[in-house]
Amino acid sequence: MVATIAQYQFQAETRQLLDLMINSLYTNKEIFLRELISNASDAIDRLRFETLSNPELVTGDDRYEIRLEVDKQERTLTISDSGIGMSRDEVIAHIGTIAKSGIRELRENIRDNQPGEMLTGSIGQFGVGFYSAFMVADRVTLVTRRAGEATATIWESAGDGNYTLREGQRSSRGTTIKLHLRDETAEEGMDDYTDPWVLSRLVKKHSDFIGYPILCTFEREEVDQLGKPLPGGPRKTIVVEEKTLNSMKPLWTRPQEEVDEREYAEFYRHISDDWNPPFKTIVLKAEGSVEYQALLFIPAKAPYDLFYHASESGLRLYAKRVMIEKRCEELLPRYLRFVRGVVDSADLPLNISRQMLQQDRHLGQIRKWLTKRILDAIEELNRDYEKYLSFWEQFGRALKEGVSSDYDNKERLVKLLLFNSSNDPQTLTTLQEYVDRMKEDQNEIFYLTGESRSVVENSPHLETLTERGYEILYLIDPVDELLVQTLTEFQGKKLKSAGKGTIKLNDTEQPAVAQDEAAGLLEFIQKPIDAYVKQVRLSNRLVSSPACLVGTEMDYSPQLERLLQKGKGGGPKQRRILELNPNHEIFVKMRHRFMKDNQDQAVAECAESLFCYALLAEGSELPDTRRFNQLMLGNLLQTL
Ligand code: ADP
Ligand code: MG
Repeated sequence: MVATIAQYQFQAETRQLLDLMINSLYTNKEIFLRELISNASDAIDRLRFETLSNPELVTGDDRYEIRLEVDKQERTLTISDSGIGMSRDEVIAHIGTIAKSGIRELRENIRDNQPGEMLTGSIGQFGVGFYSAFMVADRVTLVTRRAGEATATIWESAGDGNYTLREGQRSSRGTTIKLHLRDETAEEGMDDYTDPWVLSRLVKKHSDFIGYPILCTFEREEVDQLGKPLPGGPRKTIVVEEKTLNSMKPLWTRPQEEVDEREYAEFYRHISDDWNPPFKTIVLKAEGSVEYQALLFIPAKAPYDLFYHASESGLRLYAKRVMIEKRCEELLPRYLRFVRGVVDSADLPLNISRQMLQQDRHLGQIRKWLTKRILDAIEELNRDYEKYLSFWEQFGRALKEGVSSDYDNKERLVKLLLFNSSNDPQTLTTLQEYVDRMKEDQNEIFYLTGESRSVVENSPHLETLTERGYEILYLIDPVDELLVQTLTEFQGKKLKSAGKGTIKLNDTEQPAVAQDEAAGLLEFIQKPIDAYVKQVRLSNRLVSSPACLVGTEMDYSPQLERLLQKGKGGGPKQRRILELNPNHEIFVKMRHRFMKDNQDQAVAECAESLFCYALLAEGSELPDTRRFNQLMLGNLLQTL
């Protein structure tokens, strides 16, 4: 019977990626081996996990191993594993396509960066590890048999955009990947991947921690010296030896002093799909009543999707060295989702199901303990400002989420927050530092939220405060709006928005005009803008500006209001408070005219213009641009 060969095309995206990879300047080709071994190890992990509930999968063959074989004549390298294997559908789903949405980002990255450099960083991150095979091979044949199935699937491709699938045989479950190596010339200085010693070196370098034996056959000639001299010279025998290339020790069980940075970095890469070395490595050993070990990493860069709703997170969970879950989200609070790593517990039952896992009481304890230790590590980073800053730039936002969600650790988290401040445009400040700098008579921590530092810095709301030398925190990250909902005070000092309520300063001077003296005028001013403004009052915030808009303590800031309105169903439309500067020439003139004629239309139009002025000054949009333009043209005509 002739097996039917089906021809398929890669997704357009996959094809582009392959082209990039094959034609890039990228020189560090040796990583293909690490990628394929990493997949093999994952496949065995998955098999072991499935056998916990379905032991028949491995009846008769419970060897877990990865095997490298070379053929110098044919110039092939074969990597096979006794892992879970793939069904035909799985091959199509996982090998023919790139599922991760990150692929677009990857391409954009490559366009914007040095091609070689960027690709190095991206290969693993975007889950394209398998394709690295085409950096060294011009044809790849994959034979795979899913555990529990009788037949195998053969996938083959020359990396040219097409691949074929046919049914085949494999003596047992697992996957075999045969690389038909490209012809390499000596000038390129390429390693010979058909040399077991080269493979041995690469395994030591990149894959030593893999938990299953990586086996390779070595041949050497032995010259028989003792035998009688033979006509053709001394007798040579070929000795064939099988060696395990990796030490196989799970990295988290080894004492920290014995493991070097590079080994941790390789392991991190294996579990995280991030090629950059970790920013910080945290090695933890069992404490207290539950026995567990953990190896955690803080990445150097936040993944592009960290703040997307559906971003992936979770630590690898092992029970006595058997992987139970690849991404166990219950091990950490959500805001620490950027932490990668492994937790191995001797106290979890091996046959635990996902549902049971969620209710397991040990897990809650582990989570508490891990959280504490991660915060310890972050606090330690915080002793070095520069170092902490690079952490903060990547993950500061996540910590802000924690302030609102992790009640138990709120105090510790608050101390880790950094803010822009009027004190110094170059450095960020902590709340503690702010409090230490507070003026003697100052009772509140002043802040203003806004879109950017320059908008906030130039906002009229801050004029009096700035003039009198009060420090103001500039909260310019969109999540700051949510932060200040829960972070309302620090060390007994209230956080006070300069754009809300009234500002009470101990050294406030008496205004030139009292509020009730101007009551009639203020009422008159409100009329034309009543749809947008719920009150008009005199301000003590302003020095050089004639007007600004503020809210009550309970109101949303304009930024948050805009944010909410963008969301589903839109948000509430608020009316705000227009504050006027009683010392400003405009106000003085308006008052003068109003006293002469309390129906003066020029005063009413001036009120509208001031409202628009205040909106523009804080970076808000005008509700009615046409009306504003009319007013402005009128003013221009008067000026000319
Ligand atoms: P990743 O490992 O990040 O998922 P890869 O491109 O390395 O990305 O592999 C893609 C997928 O192909 C894997 O997730 C797995 O489902 C499947 N796969 C690759 N190699 C093997 C293998 N040796 N055994 C079983 N499945 C494999
Ligand atoms: Mg992989």
